[in-house]
Amino acid sequence: MAIARGYAATDASKPLEPFTFERREPREDDVVISIKYCGVCHSDIHQARNEWGGSIYPMVPGHEVAGIVTAVGSGVTRFKVGDHVGVGCFVDSCVHCASRDLDTEQYQPGLVGTYNAYEADGTTPTYGGYSDSMVVKEGYVLSIPDNLPLDRAAPLLCAGITLYSPLAHWKAGPGKKVAVIGMGGLGHMGVKIGAAMGADVTVLSQSLSKKDDGLAFGAKAYYATSDAETFKTLAGTFDLILCTVSAGIDWNAYLSLLKVDGTMVLLGVPENPVPVHAFALIGGRRTLAGSMIGSIKETQEMLDFCGKHDILPEIELIDIKDINEAYERVIKSDVRYRFVIDMATLPKA
Ligand code: NAP
Ligand code: ZN
Repeated sequence: MAIARGYAATDASKPLEPFTFERREPREDDVVISIKYCGVCHSDIHQARNEWGGSIYPMVPGHEVAGIVTAVGSGVTRFKVGDHVGVGCFVDSCVHCASRDLDTEQYQPGLVGTYNAYEADGTTPTYGGYSDSMVVKEGYVLSIPDNLPLDRAAPLLCAGITLYSPLAHWKAGPGKKVAVIGMGGLGHMGVKIGAAMGADVTVLSQSLSKKDDGLAFGAKAYYATSDAETFKTLAGTFDLILCTVSAGIDWNAYLSLLKVDGTMVLLGVPENPVPVHAFALIGGRRTLAGSMIGSIKETQEMLDFCGKHDILPEIELIDIKDINEAYERVIKSDVRYRFVIDMATLPKA
């Protein structure tokens, strides 16, 4: 067992604090990673504060992990010491199945979250990336292209794949009009990746305060949803709408912005249910859908796509001691556009 240092939530209402714990001895198929950076996803906040229920404490959040391989088990073939690697939202999958489903594993029973979950044995808690090291099965480790710096690559492991997957699934590309609701950590990656795929991307944000950034990231248009005119102007416009908002909003109003046969995909997970009126769907044969992260195979495809197109998240690097203040700023939409923790700032043992 190796001792790891990190930060943990010990209770839904308490700030995160320094925490020391054990990582398992590497098995033959394990990769040992020295974590250099970890992104701060809004899901970390939802779970640290038990907003979705069932949180397991102490909880070391973090599923946007970027680091360097320091050791590999004897059976590992794809990684070697010194490689730049990432870990995303899960560290095992299909643990009750005869074989692993490589295309839709994130939707199968037996998914093991990177934190706030239990390993395949059902009893060993998993601890996430707000820490200095990690031991992960080779099949759940991603290769980060050499041209992507590790600090900026980290948010691709959740924010990047969560937007790439629905954009690819609903075939965003030339001729497709795509809207992204909310330009936060997830949303700004939707703009960058959607534009790189060739789609015509519009941002629907609460205000116009980030308009220059949105257009620089590749959006063709940018509207404030606080302005009622926006909903009149854009009625029936989009083939695809990706909703990244972490709070409850009136989905009916946004559904009216879809063309006939258009699809709105929910990515954000508000704490409470949001009512949908049947007319918002039947009036345009519209679809309300959902999408959750992506498979490991698709995550690697996304990383390679971002490497090829030089797509990087915009980040604010923070000291880990500032994590609780960072959480408050994320909630206020006061981040441009993803906080990333510099793990060199972890207090020494
Ligand atoms: P974030 O950085 O906080 O971005 C959310 C954005 O939503 C904000 O920047 C803001 O954009 C908008 N927003 C926030 N509150 C709003 C309100 N009350 N009304 C209207 N718009 C509001 O969070 P994130 O890390 O991108 O995560 C977003 C959500 O996705 C979270 O619920 C998270 O748990 C979820 N998530 C889902 C998946 C998945 O697999 N489906 C993966 C990761 C995260 P503007 O300032 O532009 O309005
Ligand atoms: Zn996330």
